[in-house]
Amino acid sequence: MRNSRATRLLFELSKPGLRAVRFPEPDVPTPPPQELLPSEQLAADPPPLPELSEPDVVRHFVNLSTMNMAVDTHTYPLGSCTMKYNPKRNDRWAGLPGFAQLHPYQPEQSVQGLLQLLYELQQYLAQISGLDAVSLQPAAGAQGELAALLIAAAYFRQRKAELGPRTRVLIPDSAHGTNPASAAMAGFEAVTIRSNSQGLVDLEDLQQKLDPQVAVFMITNPNTLGLFETQIERIAQMVHDKGGLLYLDGANMNAILGVVRPGDFGADMMHFNPHKTFSGPHGAGGPGAGPIAVKKHLDPYLPVPVVVRDEEGRFRLDYDRPHSIGQVRSFFGNVGVLIRAYAYIRTLGPQGLRQVAEDAVLNANYLLSLVKPFLPVPFGSRCMHEFVATAQELRRQRGITAMDLAKRLLDFGFHAPTVYFPITVREALMIEPTETESKQSLDAMAQALFRITEESPELLRQAPHSTWISRPDEVQAARRPMLKWTPQEDRS
Ligand SMILES: *Cc1c(COP(=O)(O)O)cnc(C)c1O
Repeated sequence: MRNSRATRLLFELSKPGLRAVRFPEPDVPTPPPQELLPSEQLAADPPPLPELSEPDVVRHFVNLSTMNMAVDTHTYPLGSCTMKYNPKRNDRWAGLPGFAQLHPYQPEQSVQGLLQLLYELQQYLAQISGLDAVSLQPAAGAQGELAALLIAAAYFRQRKAELGPRTRVLIPDSAHGTNPASAAMAGFEAVTIRSNSQGLVDLEDLQQKLDPQVAVFMITNPNTLGLFETQIERIAQMVHDKGGLLYLDGANMNAILGVVRPGDFGADMMHFNPHKTFSGPHGAGGPGAGPIAVKKHLDPYLPVPVVVRDEEGRFRLDYDRPHSIGQVRSFFGNVGVLIRAYAYIRTLGPQGLRQVAEDAVLNANYLLSLVKPFLPVPFGSRCMHEFVATAQELRRQRGITAMDLAKRLLDFGFHAPTVYFPITVREALMIEPTETESKQSLDAMAQALFRITEESPELLRQAPHSTWISRPDEVQAARRPMLKWTPQEDRS
């Protein structure tokens, strides 16, 4: 790590007595604190906060902001995350005082504008998904998965006499890790379905594991290999024939927006990731939202509140839903992200959304065609919005791993792609350029990747050479994260 002011924490930069602002001495009497608050509410000492001047604070944060790569600074082909450019217009709209300064406890009558926006967003998401009812409540895709599986559990609980106890959730081996985690959290047993030699769901394996105890089949379409599950209607039929529900992990909606609707290919429920598909800025775990859409027969179980419109045209929050799984998040959901999604959808309109998907797929295929000659793509003569290349040959022949390639890309001014996922491909590099990259930046990325594959393994193993931090100990970082500053003398 470079030793510089930028890498030191505010606590370490602190000097007693430094202040950003000094208030003038009050010209009115100031009673002692004990007269204003009961003594048990008063701390004995002030909290040990850092003391700094205003320029110290500003420089600290501005310097921090330059230490990371972001969509606003670099091309960011992080597969499955859809790191597309986020139009600044949407931020501005979400920051309008009429939205940003509302209080969640304001009477409904005084937040009609926001409620109307949320109501309309529910309707747009229903239209885009081809499903009937929407809840904007969940806070992220993963929480949308959990909410939908809780809905499935409630649905089967109510129909136990007819459909029997349902304890299993089937999940393809290429799925995102949140799928089995959500299944377990919702009280189901997660069962893995194999992929076939084309990287698609193996129908024989599905047939075998699809028994009357299966509640849900969770599918991602297009899947994480960037391939459209061409047998999706057959799969839906198979699941429905056994009384199960089909769940669509909607993280890859960017590839099919306005082209095909999950409800039309048989999904009973799905989540959206507005922070991916509808250009909410995200990274490092947030912020996000995870609206879910369901077919009519699952509508009664949606989390409360749902935004409804009464006969007089007034909008209100409906909590009176006796079969609801309950509340999964406070208030109206993650409103800032939802407003951006609304703005994005309204700006583009139906034609524009379709164009997004077509351009995302075109960009990914263009990049695929440039990369494939020197970095094999096991399942990709063609792809949807992303593809998965492998460094397996490079590793065997020259000892260069997917991690080495990813790290070295940073030196060339590109954020790394996702690596080692999906787990069905060895030495995987999952590349998603998104529709907001130009031909020039795709050409440059392919060229950088090509040059890197020609470089010496020694150089690559030490990469990146140009970043603030080169190769942190990832195991330590995951197992013993230091998330809180502790004074030097207290560190063990
Ligand atoms: C991102 C992602 C998720 C989880 O969504 P979050 O919004 O990050 O919780 C689930 N499945 C896939 C395929 C994803 O890419």
